[in-house]
Amino acid sequence: MVIAGGGIVGVSLARELRKHDASVLIVERGEPGREASHAAAGMLAWCDPMLPDPLRRLAQASAGLYPEFVHEIDDESGMRVDLRMQGTIAYLPELPAGDATSCIPTGEWRLLDAEEIARLEPRLAYSGEPAYWTPEGSVDPRGLIAASVKAAKHRGVDIASGSAVIAVEVEGGRAVAVKTAKTVYAAGAVVNCCGAWAGEVGPLRFPTRPVKGQMLCVVTAQHGLVNHVVRAPEVYVVPRSDGRIVIGSTLEDAGFDKRVDPDTIQRLHQAAASLIPELGEARMLETWAGLRPGTPDALPLLGATEVENYFVAAGHYRDGILLAPVTALVMSQVVRGAKPDFDLSAFSSARF
Ligand SMILES: Cc1cc2nc3c(=O)[nH]c(=O)nc-3n(C[C@H](O)[C@H](O)[C@H](O)COP(=O)(O)OP(=O)(O)OC[C@H]3O[C@@H](n4cnc5c(N)ncnc54)[C@H](O)[C@@H]3O)c2cc1C
Repeated sequence: MVIAGGGIVGVSLARELRKHDASVLIVERGEPGREASHAAAGMLAWCDPMLPDPLRRLAQASAGLYPEFVHEIDDESGMRVDLRMQGTIAYLPELPAGDATSCIPTGEWRLLDAEEIARLEPRLAYSGEPAYWTPEGSVDPRGLIAASVKAAKHRGVDIASGSAVIAVEVEGGRAVAVKTAKTVYAAGAVVNCCGAWAGEVGPLRFPTRPVKGQMLCVVTAQHGLVNHVVRAPEVYVVPRSDGRIVIGSTLEDAGFDKRVDPDTIQRLHQAAASLIPELGEARMLETWAGLRPGTPDALPLLGATEVENYFVAAGHYRDGILLAPVTALVMSQVVRGAKPDFDLSAFSSARF
């Protein structure tokens, strides 16, 4: 079986398929895990009211799978992935009049008063807008993908790095191989996990598109300055256990351009400092931009395609880190011909 693309989606699926004794080769254009999966903030935002409806059950299930998913990866890689379950403090402006929680579908949100905010996150400058606590955790995506690659190799997944899949070869309506510039890999089945680039692999043209996000990472003299993910409409702040604090992000339609704009970074930094004033003085460690794999309806593409033995798992947009465990689970079921645990009809590539 060949998986095109070694981001968190491809690598997680490869590990899952190996558990069922499939032989798996990942063909990766660059180095595994250096694109969106490296750029992400790592929020596990399964309660987000902005999640499209069909995605809610998958998102909730994936969040539930996370502790075991990380535990296995830790075990198999000998590394320690930074999974934080302290929860999220979210500012939600413009709530509908009347029942302030009517827009919150999961019932997992708790309105905080000023006293609770001060106890949970003492450095937060309370703005007076409604703030909620949710159980959403976070994970360090860079640590996760590095450990996942190691765990996948440990399980016997082969990885061919530095070779882009140009096309899936089809004979008699069935996928039989993937073609790179240098070689052809025979394949009993092929899964396209190329993220924002999934639509560039022939012969099927999936409508994925890049949605750029710029980010920065800072560190403060005071360790543990922030404990929860803090999400506001114009910025979010995601603490890591080693003291780094990630601040993001933009949503830009800029093609495959990954350049960072200093003014945009400054604006994000200032927005974060308006939430937590000490962040204004924090030392900047790094800035970067990544490309979320978007689709026209902001839902992923999951499942079989019109070509027999050719599957797709791409287009996870803003939630691919969150959705990696459940994607691996259901796609491994689909590829093996088993009934998936969840109804995937809303995610079929045939909808386009
Ligand atoms: C700024 C930013 C913040 C984000 N924050 C979050 C967050 O807080 N929580 C969350 O859940 N998600 C977040 N995301 C989204 C998340 O990062 C993605 O949804 C997820 O990483 C998608 O994983 P993937 O494996 O599909 O794609 P990628 O990680 O992009 O992997 C695709 C891989 O395919 C390879 N590839 C491409 N073309 C080819 C080819 N032709 N042949 C072979 N290989 C190929 C690429 O090199 C790449 O390694 C964020 C994304 C960004 C950019």
